[in-house]
Amino acid sequence: MPDNKERVLITGAAGFLGSHLCDRFLKEGYHVIGMDNLITGRLKNIEHLFKREDFEFYNHDVSKFVHVPGPLKYILHFASPASPIDYLKIPIQTLKVSSLGTHNLLGLAKAKGGRILVASTSEVYGDPQVHPQTEDYWGHVNPIGPRGVYDEAKRFQEAITMAYHTYHGLETRIVRIFNTYGPRMRLNDGRVLPAFIGQALRGEDLTVFGNGSQTRSFCYVDDLVEGIYRLLLSDYAGPVNVGNPSEITIGQFAEEIIKLTGTTQKVVYKPLPTDDPMQRQPDITLARKLLNWEPKVARAEGLKITYDYFKSLTPEELNEKEHFSFEGYARK
Ligand code: UDP
Repeated sequence: MPDNKERVLITGAAGFLGSHLCDRFLKEGYHVIGMDNLITGRLKNIEHLFKREDFEFYNHDVSKFVHVPGPLKYILHFASPASPIDYLKIPIQTLKVSSLGTHNLLGLAKAKGGRILVASTSEVYGDPQVHPQTEDYWGHVNPIGPRGVYDEAKRFQEAITMAYHTYHGLETRIVRIFNTYGPRMRLNDGRVLPAFIGQALRGEDLTVFGNGSQTRSFCYVDDLVEGIYRLLLSDYAGPVNVGNPSEITIGQFAEEIIKLTGTTQKVVYKPLPTDDPMQRQPDITLARKLLNWEPKVARAEGLKITYDYFKSLTPEELNEKEHFSFEGYARK
């Protein structure tokens, strides 16, 4: 039954950020079309949406031609592996989804006369020599290192998005997302927060890579989604950093997780992965000015909500190896 609502396509809909974006756009009254090939996404993240009339799901790989019938007001391209261990496991798909996939979605946006927002990343700055990172910094990226498949695909994504904007006059938005956390992260995706919390919950030692002096700045997912929503509705086509400037060393972060979880396990040190950036902090002056946005959720609060989510997982999920099957999730 068609609902007369404005339609939004969200790729990577079954992923961590994509699923939260689906929730947000449904709440705002849109008809949401979620798309995901479920390589790293999980249907569990969106199973609560399958009964809704204003939500549809396409199991599709956006690096292949994308067909969506009917009008589209907005496209949000959030499909991509986003964790360093995923890039190592599936480097070619990582390259394809942000290059070929972005090209397909730009073409779709042009055909539909819609506006597209693409998910870029702080990784475009590589291991930065400017701190904190402003949008006019060009970055320090190793194209052939293990992270190159992600970083360069995202840099290409920005380039082709700007080209469609300038050459075709397409309405485009680029968000540079810094480390984000919250419920629905994959416990075994290798990233530092699920890694530490998973280790605490399983009674394992917390693995700090290097000496723990590298820094990150963690943004709670609701803050990020708010920033993305405002950017989409803005009229600014250049890249905008969205993240939380509160910076912390990974060593301190491990201590915070130990305190939060009450684990009696200790910290063990492992070698620092190749090209692991030593410091990262978004300069959000532009987002503050353009979008009147800044993060609201303090790390202590966000971590508590996230820990409660991970605690609610079943023992099988805590040791999960396989993704969920599509069977049983079809709309009734
Ligand atoms: N890290 C760590 N222990 C882990 C996983 C990650 O010390 O078990 C470190 C990693 O080396 C990096 C930081 O935590 O310096 C953030 O890593 P993550 O994979 O979450 O994302 P990145 O910001 O590097 O893309």
